[in-house]
Parts: sequence; C-alpha cells; structure tokens
Amino acid sequence: MTTAPTTTSAWTERYAGALMNTFGAPKTVLARGEGAHVWDADGREYVDLLGGIAVNALGHAHPRLVAAVTEQLQTLGHVSNFFASAPQITLAERLVGLLGTDARVFFTNSGTEANEAAFKLTRRTGRTRIVVTEGSFHGRTMGALALTSKEAYRAPFEPLPGEVVFVPYGDVAALEAVVDNDTAAVLVEPVQGEAGVIVPPRGYLPAAQRIAHDNGALLWLDEIQTGVGRTGTWFAHQNPALVDAPVAPDIVTLAKGLAGGIPIGACLATHGSGKLFDPGNHGTTFGGNPVAAAAALAVLDVLDEDDLLARAITLGARLQEGVGADPRVRETRGSGLLVGLTLAEPRAAEVVAAAQDAGFIVNAATPERIRMAPPFVLADADAEAFLGTWPAILDQAGVRA
Ligand code: PLP
Repeated sequence: MTTAPTTTSAWTERYAGALMNTFGAPKTVLARGEGAHVWDADGREYVDLLGGIAVNALGHAHPRLVAAVTEQLQTLGHVSNFFASAPQITLAERLVGLLGTDARVFFTNSGTEANEAAFKLTRRTGRTRIVVTEGSFHGRTMGALALTSKEAYRAPFEPLPGEVVFVPYGDVAALEAVVDNDTAAVLVEPVQGEAGVIVPPRGYLPAAQRIAHDNGALLWLDEIQTGVGRTGTWFAHQNPALVDAPVAPDIVTLAKGLAGGIPIGACLATHGSGKLFDPGNHGTTFGGNPVAAAAALAVLDVLDEDDLLARAITLGARLQEGVGADPRVRETRGSGLLVGLTLAEPRAAEVVAAAQDAGFIVNAATPERIRMAPPFVLADADAEAFLGTWPAILDQAGVRA
C-alpha cells in the first residue's frame, strides 16, 4: 500500500491543530528551497521575493552556508557561556570591523533579544527614558514591545516597561522637543521595515545623533532589518543614499540576515557604551552559539566575495523602477533590496494572494504597501519574470489606478 504524500492542505489543518494561532493561517507550507526559489508541499514552485522577511540573504540551501554550519556542528556545536569559541570571537571582531569604530558585541538568538540587551544596556546609563518613533517595530518581548508603537500589539500586554516617549518618524523638530537630559537613548530604525519601508529624510539620522548627544543620551539604531548589507552598505546608517552626513551610533542592533536563516542577533555598543554591562548583568544560553556564529561568518564572506552589496543596489533599483512603471503603483521607496511600494488602492492582501497564485512571494506590510526583501542571489531572470507578471498580478488583485 502506498501512502499519498501529505499535501499543503493536510499540513495546514495539522498546523491549526498543533500550533498557537499567533500568525493566522499560513499562506502555504513550504517544503524546500534552493537559491531564491522555494517549493511548497504540493510541489508548487515560487520565486521568493521576501526571503523570510529579509533573512535569507544567500537564499535557500546556499552551499557555503550549508558547509559552514555542517563543519561547525561536526567540530563544536555548542558551549556554555562559561566558555568562549573561535567563531563567536571572530564574528564579534568582524562586526566591529564593519562598524568601523571601537565597539563590543553581545550575541543573542533573535532581533527582539538584541533589543532587550540594548534596552537593558541603556538602563546602565542611570537614565530610564527612551525616545522612540511612531510606526516603529522593535520586537515582541516585553521590553522591545514597550518600544514598538503599534497599539494592537501593545494593548493586550500592558503594563509594559514605562518611560517610553513616541515621536513622529523623520521629524527632527519632534525629537528636539522631547529629548532632554533625562533621556537614556533615542531609538530609531534607519528605514522602518515593518511599517512598509518608510525612508526618512537624509538629514534625519545625523540630526538624531546631534540631538541625542547634545543631551548626553545614546543614539541607538535598530538595524535588525536594514543591517548586514540589506540596503547596499553593511549598515544602513553608512549608506549615502540614506544619510547626508556620517552617523556614529552608540548602539546598533542586528539579527535577521546576519546568519542567513540560522537564528542569531547582536547588540553592538561603541566606546564606553560597550562597557556598561558588568558580569552578571545579562546573559543567554544560545547567544553566540558557534554554529550560528560560523553561519554568520559564511554569510559575511559570501556577501563580500560575491560583491552582493553592489548587487543589492542595482537589483533593488531595477525592482523599484519595474514595479513603479505601472500607474497603479503610487510610489516606490526603499534602498537596496529593501523595497516598498504604495498601491493606488488598499488591496495589498489581494496583491499578495495574486502574486502567490502567479508563483511569487511578496508581503503586505500595510493594506496599501507591498514589501519585498529578496535574497541577494535573486537572478536577473527571476526579477524580470516577476516584473513581467506584475501588471497581471495587479489585474487579478483588482487594483485600479
Ligand atoms: N526590529 C526590527 C526593525 C525588525 O524588523 C524586527 C523584526 O521584524 C525586530 C526588531 C524583531 O526581530 P525578531 O522577530 O527576530 O525578534
């Protein structure tokens, strides 16, 4: 007797019975991936233009990532934090080198944990007030949630850690009005990813730095979505397309693309800020795990050797130009391979469904905004196939100009 292979609909039913309903029903159940392509449990192929939401920088099953993880796991898979490991130390040094200034690193397993570490670090300044921006997304744990603006995420879990002040994003005067010498840190995303790829004026981050530092506060940049080359430079705050003057943050948080899909996060703190924690102030079992660190080193190597940051810029520009050519797209925004677009009508969910029907994975960040954050290894032919299908996707989704 042969048993039929489990279909996506059977898996989806099992999902509903076994997993907490935090994400809603899955759009499909993916079975494997290769490069920028994924296949679902029914064998349907998709071009992945979302990359696990800015995570799968090298796409799926990249041989260098597979080899690095395999080799490290065969050598030393995990150590307690009573011990150190070569990949952990090497990765910290590499990140500090990319940041280009004296810094110390704390490794975590996710973005929200990187932000928790940073949040605790700011408390060590002796100040407790944090200024953050409207539209921000910094994570779902209690501290990071307190720094996240969306009311629907926050309200069911209040009270959250207090003394968090929200100001409009991209608004220098608003920062000037609230940052004072009780402020521990000003926390900003260089580009707001979850809000739908919102790019602030180029003077915003330099001004945020000036205002923070004039008040003795730290500038903390959440580069969890924008970091590790996503916008075309290692860090978005180093990107001349995004800033009009050099920016030197005190804290930078990273995660997502850093290890190309192996869970990792990092909190980098420069100069004196990197020395604010004393032994016992913070900890983690898995953070800085040798396998995750080896994966991250492989990602950084491949991005570097294959010149993929430059590719992010050209490919991202082509995607923006291509989708923006349709009159049903009001505007495109973003930098490198973090691409957002505003539809003429709020039918982003329909566009995501139509794209999936056509074999492409994109994301609805808001009812009007589509986000793409594809792997850096996305082939030109795949990008062109998507752009060629884009008008038909908008037709099927019923978007009018
Ligand atoms: N910060 C930013 C800017 C993010 O985009 C995200 C995730 O989307 C997070 C923090 C939270 O990261 P994680 O989901 O790994 O906890």
